[in-house]
Amino acid sequence: MLEIKIKRLDLAHTWTIARGSADYKENVFVKLEQGGICGFGEAAPNVRYGESAALTVTRMKAAAPVFEQHDLFHFEELAAALAETIRDQSCARAGLEMALLDWVGKALQAPLYRMWGLNPARAPLTSFSIGIDSPEVIQAKVEEAADYPILKIKLGMGDDEAVLGAVRRVTDRPLRVDANEGWLNKEEALEKIRWLADQNVEFVEQPLPAAMVEETAWLRERASLPIVADEAVKTAADIPKVAHAYDGINIKLMKSGGLLEALRMIHLARALDLKIMLGCMIESSLAISAAAQLAPYTDWIDLDGNLLLREDPFRGVRIERGKVLYNELPGLGVEGDF
Ligand code: MG
Repeated sequence: MLEIKIKRLDLAHTWTIARGSADYKENVFVKLEQGGICGFGEAAPNVRYGESAALTVTRMKAAAPVFEQHDLFHFEELAAALAETIRDQSCARAGLEMALLDWVGKALQAPLYRMWGLNPARAPLTSFSIGIDSPEVIQAKVEEAADYPILKIKLGMGDDEAVLGAVRRVTDRPLRVDANEGWLNKEEALEKIRWLADQNVEFVEQPLPAAMVEETAWLRERASLPIVADEAVKTAADIPKVAHAYDGINIKLMKSGGLLEALRMIHLARALDLKIMLGCMIESSLAISAAAQLAPYTDWIDLDGNLLLREDPFRGVRIERGKVLYNELPGLGVEGDF
């Protein structure tokens, strides 16, 4: 009743960030079938966290018996059992739990956002990410992204002035900056943030390497822009350790290991007075629609991984001028080719 397959997702443009470049992504897709209902899930392995498509498939296969041992409606219990079984490859857990919650939503005939009592109209506008490239290509990408009111740009490759300059020559739209751990010391990061502060930048994501928590706390005291943790926070357990060093956290299903842990992170971050951003990896509309179910809880969203694909095997939430448009379909609200 569990089917697993790897799909190659080609990108519309070569995707470059501070860690490296890619022309395609290999994500792992799951179909969970029981009682004539199919739930779908997607895992997007990320090398930053030691993940691969092959290991993800191995972990998913090892966890398949968990689905036989539990009533699918007892999804909290089942998800806890998945967490016991899958200790690394958090994206594998995310993909399996996604299929489970899609199944449950379909069985109950309700979209997940409705099961959680959320108002989809409260989802914030999403940003659209521009990967690192030559100034000419960056300008072309910004122009292609004319429909998106907020852009996210990737810095941290040593040519920050050229990248930002290229963007600012063609648009004055608000920007979010992601350094992907690319600035290597706190003084350099402070200088960059001071420079960004008068260029209509909303916040800076992961300026320093995740391990530099105390340096980031030093930076936060002096910086005039909010600092958001991405690589520094995977699950709820990481949040208290870094809460003094950041103004907000970027939650991603592939890091948290699924929607239920993402929900725990949202509640913990709120209790600690942190801002909440909801992000993604390069993913199809399947995983993006799953994340979107939580968007009404958050302050900032960056759910654009599907928009970077040449061809998207699924259809789910749509984005119009940065606004997330939900449908009334049950579960994750997704249709497509498994
Ligand atoms: Mg990031």
